[in-house]
Amino acid sequence: MENNVEDFMKKVIEKNPGEKEFHQVVREVIESIMPFIEKNPKYKKAKILERMVEPERVIMFRVPWVDDKGEIQVNRGYRVEFNSAIGPYKGGLRFHPSVTLSGLKFLGFEQTFKNSLTTLPMGGGKGGSDFNPRGKSDGELMRFCQSFMSELFRHIGPNTDVPAGDIGVGGREIGYLFGMYKKLKNEFTGVLTGKGRNWGGSLIRPEATGFGAVYFAQELLKTKGEDFKDKIVTISGFGNVAWGVALKLDQLGAKVVTLSGPDGYIYDKDGVKGEKIDYMLEMRASNNDRVEDYAKKYDVPFYAGKKPWDIKCDIAMPCAIQNELVGDDAKTLIKNGCKLIAEVSNMGCTPEAAKLATEKIAFAPGKAVNAGGVAVSGLEMSQNSMRYNWTSEEVDARLHQIMKDIHEACVKHGRISENKVDYIKGANIAGFVKVADAMLDYGVI
Ligand code: GLU
Repeated sequence: MENNVEDFMKKVIEKNPGEKEFHQVVREVIESIMPFIEKNPKYKKAKILERMVEPERVIMFRVPWVDDKGEIQVNRGYRVEFNSAIGPYKGGLRFHPSVTLSGLKFLGFEQTFKNSLTTLPMGGGKGGSDFNPRGKSDGELMRFCQSFMSELFRHIGPNTDVPAGDIGVGGREIGYLFGMYKKLKNEFTGVLTGKGRNWGGSLIRPEATGFGAVYFAQELLKTKGEDFKDKIVTISGFGNVAWGVALKLDQLGAKVVTLSGPDGYIYDKDGVKGEKIDYMLEMRASNNDRVEDYAKKYDVPFYAGKKPWDIKCDIAMPCAIQNELVGDDAKTLIKNGCKLIAEVSNMGCTPEAAKLATEKIAFAPGKAVNAGGVAVSGLEMSQNSMRYNWTSEEVDARLHQIMKDIHEACVKHGRISENKVDYIKGANIAGFVKVADAMLDYGVI
C-alpha cells in the first residue's frame, strides 16, 4: 500500500514540479483512498485517481488595470476547472498576494471532494488572482474586478462554471464582478453566488461557512456526549468565515476568546460577542487587513506576529488560511487540554498537526467542516433556477441538515474503532465515491 502511494506521488510530483501545496493535498487524499481503491479494483482499472488529479482545464490570463495615481498595474488571473463529473464547476475566487497556480490547484482538487460531500450537484473549481486588496480604494477594487471579469466571462456560465467568493472576495467584489458579467453577456443569470440580496443572493449565504462549521462540530461533540455550552474556543482570522463562526458560537453559549490577522492575534477573555462581532465586519470592509484595531477599540491584549494557538481552550477552529496550524501548535493545544481541532480554513492544518489531533484528541478536516459555504451557494443556484427565494429559516434548516448528513457520511466511511472516527479518511472516501462513480458511467472522456 505504502509503495502504491509513493509510486503515485512520484508521478504527480514529476508531472507538477514545484507545486508544493498541490502535492500536499493529493498525498493527504491518496493516503486515505488507496486502501479503498485496492478493495474496489473497478476504480483502479479505470485509472480514476490518475484522471482526478489532472484538472479538466486551466485558464490563466492577464489582468491589467489603472490605479488611483493613473499608473498601470498588471496582475495574473486564474480559473482552474477541476472536475465537472457531478455538476458545473463550482468554487470561490481568491484575491491574495499568495495566489499561485499550485495553490489554486490544491484548492480546486479539494473543492471537488467538498462539493461532492454536500450532496448537491456541483463539480469542483477554484480561481483568483495575486492581486492584493489591502489598502486599495473602492475605485481600484472595482476597476480590478471589471478587468478580471472582462476575460473570465467567456469561460463561465450558470451551467458551466459558477464562481463565488473566497479570501479577499466578499459581497462588494461579487457585485462588481456580476455587474460586468451581466453587461458583457446581456444576461441576468445565477453565474456567481454570494450575490447581494436584491439581485439574486440567498439569505444565510454570508453566515453559511461559519454556521455550517459550527453545526458540523456540534455533531462531532454530540458523539462524545458534549455540546458547545460554556466551551472556550480559540479561532484565527477575522473575515467572513471567522465572523460566522463567532456569531453561531455566541448563540450556542460558547466563548470565543481570540481573533487573528496577518499582524498578530487579540485575546479577549470576556469573549467576542454582541457588537464586537459586528465590528469584525467593519475591520474586513476597511481593507486594512489587521486585527490590532480590535485590541485598541476594546482594550484587550494584542500579540504582534503571533498565532492564537498557545491560549488554553476546549476547541480550536482555524479560520484563516492553509497551513496556519503546524505540528508544534497542535502539541501545545493538546497539552493545554484542547479536545477538538475543527479545521475551518482549507487545509488549515499541516499533515503533522492533523495526524496528531486525529490520534490524540479529535480532528475534523476543512473539506467537511467548511462545506456549508458552498452548500448554501448550491442552494442559491437552486433558488436562481426557480426564480424564487427561500426564507432564512428554510435555508438555515437545509444547511443544518446538509452538515448533519456530511457528518454522518464521514462517520460511515471513517470509523476505525468503536469510539474512534478518522474524519479525514471518512471525508475523502465519501467525497470520492460519488465523483468516481459518475466518471465510470461516462466512460473514458
Ligand atoms: N470559497 C468557498 C469554499 O472554499 C465557497 C465557494 C462557493 O461558494 O462556491 O468552499
